[in-house]
Amino acid sequence: MEYVSPEGLRLDGRRPMEMRQIRAEIGAVSRADGSAIFEMGNTKVVAAVYGPREVQNRSQQMSDQALIRCEYSMANFSTGDRKRKPKGDRRSTEISMVIRQTMEACIMTHLMPRSQIDIYVQVLQADGGTRSACINAATLALSDAGIPMCDLVTSCSAGYLNSTPLLDLNYVEDSAGGPDVTVGILPKLDKVTLLQMDSKLPIDIVENVMQLATEGCKAVANYIREILLENTKQLEYRRGLMN
Ligand code: UDP
Repeated sequence: MEYVSPEGLRLDGRRPMEMRQIRAEIGAVSRADGSAIFEMGNTKVVAAVYGPREVQNRSQQMSDQALIRCEYSMANFSTGDRKRKPKGDRRSTEISMVIRQTMEACIMTHLMPRSQIDIYVQVLQADGGTRSACINAATLALSDAGIPMCDLVTSCSAGYLNSTPLLDLNYVEDSAGGPDVTVGILPKLDKVTLLQMDSKLPIDIVENVMQLATEGCKAVANYIREILLENTKQLEYRRGLMN
């Protein structure tokens, strides 16, 4: 199948190095300490953060750092076919672990010993790149909850189809069976915290595809900064009205 037309356009009309439209909203779950919705094209996820709070299972309490827990799930209605097992399958367990490890890299856990932070991410609409969208949503939700972080971790994927590196794969492109990488970066510290690869990629191309995904992460980081700034301005405005 042709994933890039002779005119250089993808099936959804994007250029190879073009990301899908991103949109975010802070404070989507009022009962959570922090929450956010993050959309990358038709992929839409929600993240809710609870904590820092007392550790529920005392045996897991750590005297020098906070315990971070993460749960990734997909809503039954998030995919074309009804998703029978929204969580607890191998894929969800793996993605939960990957997101937890990625978020741990930026949370200053040593500042919150003997406490627990729960990150719940749920896919509302799945169209490829759900783990990246969940990481981006979790970053916003953690910021909303006021959790101290050393940087804002952001994520994006890129693949390689029809001999062309493609940024931010959608479901059709993702399921084409070609190689794809998911990257997570700490943009300010200029560090890579996540690198996952599906199927083999020629060594001379890895660098290109990774570079492309990293550019995507940087674009997400710029957007997330804008959203956080806008949110802070609104909070200040509301506080001003109350005084
Ligand atoms: N997907 C699905 N049902 C599932 C698992 C995945 O429809 O049970 C779709 C979904 O759109 C997802 C895509 O397959 O985004 C690719 O899944 P993958 O495991 O590569 O994770 P992702 O790309 O979402 O991080």
